[in-house]
Formats: sequence, C-alpha cells, structure tokens
Amino acid sequence: MLKTNDEVKRVRPATAMVHGGTMRSGFGETSEALFLTQGFVYGSAEAAEARFKGDEPGFVYSRYSNPTTRMFEERMMALEGAEDARATASGMAAVSTALQCAVQAGDHVVAARALFGSCRYIIETVLGRAGVASTLVDGRDLDQWRAAVRPETKVFFLESPTNPTLEVIDIAAVAEIAHAAGAILIVDNVFATPMQQKPLELGADVVVYSATKHIDGQGRCLGGVVLSTAEWIEKNLQDFFRHTGPSLSPFNAWTLLKGLETLPLRVAQQTANAAKLAEVLAGSPKVAKVIYPGRADHPDAEIIARQMTGGSTLLAFELEGGKAGAFRFANALEIVKISNNLGDAKSLVTHPATTTHKNLTEEARAELGIGPGMLRLSAGIEDPADLVDDITRALAAV
Ligand SMILES: *Cc1c(COP(=O)(O)O)cnc(C)c1O
Repeated sequence: MLKTNDEVKRVRPATAMVHGGTMRSGFGETSEALFLTQGFVYGSAEAAEARFKGDEPGFVYSRYSNPTTRMFEERMMALEGAEDARATASGMAAVSTALQCAVQAGDHVVAARALFGSCRYIIETVLGRAGVASTLVDGRDLDQWRAAVRPETKVFFLESPTNPTLEVIDIAAVAEIAHAAGAILIVDNVFATPMQQKPLELGADVVVYSATKHIDGQGRCLGGVVLSTAEWIEKNLQDFFRHTGPSLSPFNAWTLLKGLETLPLRVAQQTANAAKLAEVLAGSPKVAKVIYPGRADHPDAEIIARQMTGGSTLLAFELEGGKAGAFRFANALEIVKISNNLGDAKSLVTHPATTTHKNLTEEARAELGIGPGMLRLSAGIEDPADLVDDITRALAAV
C-alpha cells in the first residue's frame, strides 16, 4: 500500500500529501531526502548512452529533473489528479512557461482582465513582443469570452478567485467556450489552493500554481508548478522547459514537499479563520462591504457552490473613510502583519491600491472594484480568538 504514486492517488488528500511521490533511497530514510546535486554519474558509457536515449529510466541533469524535485511534482500530481507536472523556480516561471510554450507568432490569447500584475505583463508585453495578440475580458461575462474568439485563438487564461476582489469565474463554462474555439484553458489556481478547487476536473487543460503561497505556506521560498496531461507536457512543455531552464532548485523542492504535508491542515485552519473574520467585519458599521467566497452574500455564490469547497483563506473588505480609514486599520493591527504576500501561516493584510495594484490607473482599479478603502486579508493559522481581538482593536481605530 502507498508504494507507487498510482496507489497514492486512491487515498484521500490529507494522506496523499504525507506519502505521495516519496522515493526512498537505499537507506530507507523516513523523511524525503534532499538530493542537492546538479548531475548524475553512470556506471558505464553504455549506461550513459541508454539513459540519454531514454531506454533506461533515471535522471541526467537537474535542469531537466531531480529526485527531490520529482517527488514534489509527483505529490502535486496526486493532489491535482494530473498525469504529469513540472516544478518551476517561481509562480511566474510557471505562468510564463505554460503560456510561452503554448503559442507562437500569429496566435491570439484571451484572458480575464482581473490578473496578477506580472501575469498581465507576460500576456500583453512578453507575448505581444513575440507577435502574439491578446484580448482582456471581464471573466464573469461569458459573452465577452465568446466574442473575443478569433480563428487564431489558442489559449484562454484566467485566475479564480481573482486578486484582490475575489470574484469567481465559472471555469467549466469558460473551458467549454475555449474547447469549442479549439483553444486550451490555463487556470492560475493560486487563490483557491489545490484543496478548494480542481480546475482539471472542471475542464481546464493546464493548471499553474505559485507554490510560494499556500504550498510553502511558511514564508520560506519561491516555487511554482505546471500540471496537465502527460501528452500536453510532452508535446508542448517538455522541450521548452529543458532548454529555457525555469527549473526549481532541489532545496526549494524539498521545502515545498514538506510544506505539502501540512497543506490540508493549514488551509482548513486558515479558511475557518477567514470565515470568522469575515463575519466580524461584516457586523461592523465601519465596514462598507465584505467579499468572502464562503458567504451567502457573495455575488458569485451560485458558481462557488458548484466549483469550490470550503470558502477561501482570503477575504477583501472596504472600510468607510477610504485610504485614510484603511491605513488607520492596517496600522492598528498588532498580530496581522502588513505585507503583499498571501497564503502564509501568519495573517497578512494588503492595501492593493497603493501596493500590488498601484501601477494600474485609477479608472482601471475602479473597473476591477479596487477602491481606496479596500484591504485584502490572508488569514493565517493563529488562534481565531486572537485574530478577532486584533481586528476588533483595528476597527476601533478607524
Ligand atoms: C503570487 C502569484 C503569482 C506569482 O507567483 P511567484 O511565486 O511570486 O512568482 C502568480 N499568480 C498569482 C495569482 C499569485 O498570487
């Protein structure tokens, strides 16, 4: 039992995250070993030849693959239900690799406009320079996806829930439109985490993560991963990946592998904490609006019920008093830290208008629903009572 990855795929996620992908060396170590090596040696010239030809399984160079990195990929595959995966040095390496390997000059990409700033840069600037056109749409409006399709459309790209306004896009419906157009759908699933949303099951072709967020979850290292079918990885990604070198370091792979062991526990606690804080904030007259994917008053509640489980570890809220109100709130917090990161064991609060989304124009921010009084909160794993005390103290300061 639990010797091969196929067996691991048959157990529940919390079990798969502890055992999935583990490859033990001859020493029989309990914990996954860290193979901090660039390359590999061969017993004979014939063995090297066979390894390079692919006649013999095994590793050849850590830019291609490494035992520790492969264990991380296999554990992610078990969680996501994906046939294959490639781990990358950061979330942006995962996004840019997945997009760049799927298009060529003359192609067209359609993306939901509520994008992480760097994703927008890849789509508009990096792909634009390579002769790939793009159209940004309101991801919740299915007619806009349909209307954006051109004969040369090859890729649809979206994030859901979106950053920072936590809008939810109907992944199954967008996948259907993509497939009818002969395009693939790539989903950036960072905000949902692999515990709360399974894009591949909903019809997406490729899923990408910044493992920097919940997967590490303890603020230590950057990482990313691209997951898809074995066929897509082999045909589209493999050569691009090997030759452009976005590979994850074995040390970071080891850290992320250990992060996965506790991912189900952390995400459950973070979600419970976020739900509790959403409730407290929604009850305050100083809060104009709370957006939380676990609440019945979320505008996309019906889609959330169909495609996500368990709310979210993140919430967004609009304070009365605009930027001054938001700053007073953030500055009065003692436990929740001010940071632009998310998914961490530590609760973190962000003022998107002046940090993560400062490069957008005021109008573009308004279009995305990012007001000057909006804060995004990533709930950590602290005791909920302490977080409630902290939030209550900050509300009093507004
Ligand atoms: C953080 C993030 C990324 C980029 O990840 P890095 O690991 O920082 O490169 C991409 N997409 C989303 C939605 C993110 O939150």
